[in-house]
Amino acid sequence: MSLKVWINGTLFDKAEARVSVYDHGLLYGDGVFEGLRSYGGKVFRLEDHIHRLYASARSIHLEIPMARDELGEAVVSTLKVNNLADGYIRLVVTRGAGSLGLDPRKTSDPQVIIITDSISLYPAELYEHGLKIVTAGTIRNHPAALNPRVKSLNYLNNILAKIEGTNAGCLEALMLNHQGHVAECTGDNIFVVMHGVVHTPSVDSGILEGITRQAVIDLARDTGLTVVERTMDRHDVYTADECFLTGTAAEVIPVIECDARPIGDGRPGPVTKDLHHRFHSLVRGEPLA
Ligand code: PMP
Repeated sequence: MSLKVWINGTLFDKAEARVSVYDHGLLYGDGVFEGLRSYGGKVFRLEDHIHRLYASARSIHLEIPMARDELGEAVVSTLKVNNLADGYIRLVVTRGAGSLGLDPRKTSDPQVIIITDSISLYPAELYEHGLKIVTAGTIRNHPAALNPRVKSLNYLNNILAKIEGTNAGCLEALMLNHQGHVAECTGDNIFVVMHGVVHTPSVDSGILEGITRQAVIDLARDTGLTVVERTMDRHDVYTADECFLTGTAAEVIPVIECDARPIGDGRPGPVTKDLHHRFHSLVRGEPLA
């Protein structure tokens, strides 16, 4: 059976799911999105993702033409239709079809799209052995230009950094902010562990406020660890005992090298492994084994 894609309340076969070439989402990256995951039939932090989607839309002056709980229900029912208990969900809202000019007032019909599928961001063995990253020359968007807190359809900033990473033989790239401080990776938030304390760039570092980031901060604090959200420099990454990334698609993945410097002893560390394990139990609603 072909996967069904939900667009504005109607289900289409994957091959038939389309938007207009005049859609400003396509023409200008004008829209917002979310990436969610379902584990065992339950969407992880659905309300938080819906909340962030509406906040992003509000920030770019885009009105989502449906109620939050309606959209949440549509996500759940699309997963059911596609028989996906463990799946990845992409929620997209475009500004809709308009003229070839920028003026959003000339658009009509925002397209609300729900795609449910599977995703594997990094090869499975990297969760065990860890990822190597490099710093991209492309800095994260200046918050006064396009605030990274807005999860907009315009991901060119991140894609340019990702290209730099892959050209350097790394699957992820570290992005700095306009002040040269550590922000995040192209699709994940970054954490380091130093002397048993967990550190991550604060929200004002120019990052997306990751939902996985918050879940991991809460998990770490629950285990008695101190978590500090602060301004961070690359020096903090280079000299850390451990480093890991968090994201809906990535979950929790260890980083073992940054800019050709091994982090700690160059292997995934105990805090990272423990948080990875706890995160898996949390998303599946299972007690720790
Ligand atoms: N930063 C960026 C730039 C992202 O695109 C994402 C989501 N892929 C994240 C961080 C992680 O956010 P979340 O945990 O909410 O998926």
